[in-house]
Amino acid sequence: KLYNQVQDLKGSIRVYCRVRPFLPGQSNFSSTIGNMEDDTISINTASRHGKSLKSFTFNKVFGPSASQEEVFSDMQPLIRSVLDGYNVCIFAYGQTGSGKTFTMSGPRDLTEKSQGVNYRALGDLFLLAEQRKDTIRYDIAVQMIEIYNEHVRDLLVTDGSNKRYPFSSNEIRNSSQKGLSVPDASLVPVSSTFDVIDLMKVGHKNRAVGSTALNDRSSRSHSCLTVHVQGRDLTSGAVLRGCMHLVDLAGSERVDKSEVTGDRLKEAQHINRSLSALGDVIASLAHKNPHVPYRNSKLTQLLQDSLGGQAKTLMFVHISPEADAVGETISTLKFAERVA
Ligand code: ADP
Ligand code: MG
Repeated sequence: KLYNQVQDLKGSIRVYCRVRPFLPGQSNFSSTIGNMEDDTISINTASRHGKSLKSFTFNKVFGPSASQEEVFSDMQPLIRSVLDGYNVCIFAYGQTGSGKTFTMSGPRDLTEKSQGVNYRALGDLFLLAEQRKDTIRYDIAVQMIEIYNEHVRDLLVTDGSNKRYPFSSNEIRNSSQKGLSVPDASLVPVSSTFDVIDLMKVGHKNRAVGSTALNDRSSRSHSCLTVHVQGRDLTSGAVLRGCMHLVDLAGSERVDKSEVTGDRLKEAQHINRSLSALGDVIASLAHKNPHVPYRNSKLTQLLQDSLGGQAKTLMFVHISPEADAVGETISTLKFAERVA
């Protein structure tokens, strides 16, 4: 019994939900959110047949007024466990415009207060590493990659060429070698939040290449900030390694196949397939199925070492409050419910 409890704690999957507030100019919009409690949310699926409420229960629900700090402090123990050698995976799921990037990175006009999980997580790891420096020496390094149409690209190249190269043949190796799942991507040591801000600028700039005002590719690719931690016990010399993936997923909205063609259709199919593959992996883990289908997408291959086993996973689903988003909102919550 006790053994099982410990196992549950380690290989855990948690599901959080966050509701975006109405944006400026939307004050007279009607909302789909019926009722919200600490762990339950109900959605008003009113139609001409009348009003109906559908409710969903997760580990935690954050309403539209939840601050970045509040959200982060709930995730903090999970994030800190990477310094104890755990692998952690946090991903933001939801339709485009639901607040995934806001949660992970923050808004466009970033302030200290509006910083997202990525920056706060690293800041917190530096702080904790400093507190432990008399007993353990930590080295922290990060990678930032993008997956677009099943191609993996390095977002931290700084040679000015802006090349976001698809990696050669074996893009993602399930390598015990160095413990990196994308060994060819730039691995940059960081020791302060100043380093992190610089890197995020590089990543942001690289990611924007190829996008235009009308064609913002960032919502149609997955981006992943991976934090690698190595700690050396100063007395025993023992080494521990932890790794954390912080993932801002591509928008989960279904596109109308009759309306898109060519590149857009191809993108939509890739996104669809990789998000389903992720859902399948998480659901298999949640239901303790013996076979976990990691190999079905680049995304799940990349995250494999941080999903399942002793790893801790947080699926953070985002929803928009607008009445006309209700279809996507319900499908997002159903996706999450599969594993909750
Ligand atoms: P996504 O990444 O899912 O496409 P964004 O994070 O870009 O969505 O959010 C869409 C818009 O809503 C942005 O202008 C963002 O700043 C704003 N927004 C999202 N979540 C919040 C929030 N919790 N509080 C205030 N504004 C938010
Ligand atoms: Mg986004």
